[in-house]
Amino acid sequence: MRKKTMDSLEVRGKKVYVRVDYNVPLDADGVITDDTRIRATLPTLRQLLDGGAALILASHMGRPKGKRVAEYSLAPAAKRLSQLLERPVRLAPDCIGEETKALAQALRPGEILMLENVRFHPEEEANDPEFAQELAALADVAVNDAFGVSHRAHASVVGVARVLPMAAGRLVAQEIHFLEDTVTEPKRPFVAIIGGAKVSDKIAVLERLVRIADTLIIGGGMANTFLLARGMDVGTSLVETDARDLALRVLRTAEAEGKQVLLPSDVVTADAFREDAEPHRHPATRIPADEMVLDIGPETAEAFAAAVLPAATVLWNGPMGVFEWASFADGTKRVAEAVAANEGISIVGGGDSVAAIESCGLADRVTHISTGGGASLAYLEGKELPGIECLAEED
Ligand code: ADP
Ligand code: MG
Repeated sequence: MRKKTMDSLEVRGKKVYVRVDYNVPLDADGVITDDTRIRATLPTLRQLLDGGAALILASHMGRPKGKRVAEYSLAPAAKRLSQLLERPVRLAPDCIGEETKALAQALRPGEILMLENVRFHPEEEANDPEFAQELAALADVAVNDAFGVSHRAHASVVGVARVLPMAAGRLVAQEIHFLEDTVTEPKRPFVAIIGGAKVSDKIAVLERLVRIADTLIIGGGMANTFLLARGMDVGTSLVETDARDLALRVLRTAEAEGKQVLLPSDVVTADAFREDAEPHRHPATRIPADEMVLDIGPETAEAFAAAVLPAATVLWNGPMGVFEWASFADGTKRVAEAVAANEGISIVGGGDSVAAIESCGLADRVTHISTGGGASLAYLEGKELPGIECLAEED
């Protein structure tokens, strides 16, 4: 990785601006229901505090659309962080302005100031340079540890980085390591499992991975379009007829490059898109005209698992079926188990795939869980992420 990481920042006696992602879910009473994102930043924050820095934390929360909205205050996050770090965390009344500036100026090493929601200002999402300048003026150096917003060119990341040298925090450095370095120069065999609803959502990922991976496994709703492209009838399944050519192109690329592609050989279907619909198993070549595919079949799940187990690198993005419903979750579960049991490097990205492996209780057996939904997908597509591109280069 050529980007500067916080390990090479000189922070003693400095004020360090850290862009975190504390966009945590709250219940109706404003109580945090899942503090994973706050906990995830603790190693970054502790390292900076131990190094003698004062911290100025910036985050967004919810979608206040450029206005001050009380329910999107970062007050609950500041309180939770204070409990986790066992130190005071002061919440500024705003993220810019005279009062905030005075609070930042008075900060001593070891102290923490959390700025109020940056999205209370429309200038944040507009990447306004003057707004970014005001944020940057609060600190001496900057760190981006908010991978989940790094696919956006917003002021609190990209704008600040134009003014202050910005380094990758531990979370962002880890994402770069696994989603870029490991994927572009994988230990082989490299097996990529792509699923989820639609081919059109992930065509760029498919086209890139079919070139990099040794084996491409395709499941979930998108597999229907591949089955259709191979001339099979997929009944009333979710299918993208207009993406059939895209699927064909992926299959042809695989063939030309000598890559293995695994598609479902059997499927679990139902007569309606309903949680309580009765599941039926069929070979993929004999899907009834009035049924829809909602999961991969057991034979397919075993074949996918067998391909995943010996891989040196496994990347998984997208569930194998409608895993939210118990009757159609088995395929996703079996793949999750195989990814967890794999002894190589395993990487899981994508909001629903991460939810799936977490609901199986297997997340701690994966080498890297990518925390950004949209950002992970953009990274896997090989896109340049503005929030990563803007980071300073390693000296
Ligand atoms: P991720 O968030 O991991 O990238 P996606 O958002 O692409 O995954 O896809 C997840 C969604 O795809 C889930 O809501 C799941 O129910 C749906 N899905 C998976 N297989 C099917 C299928 N066969 N038919 C309809 N929907 C499906
Ligand atoms: Mg999703």
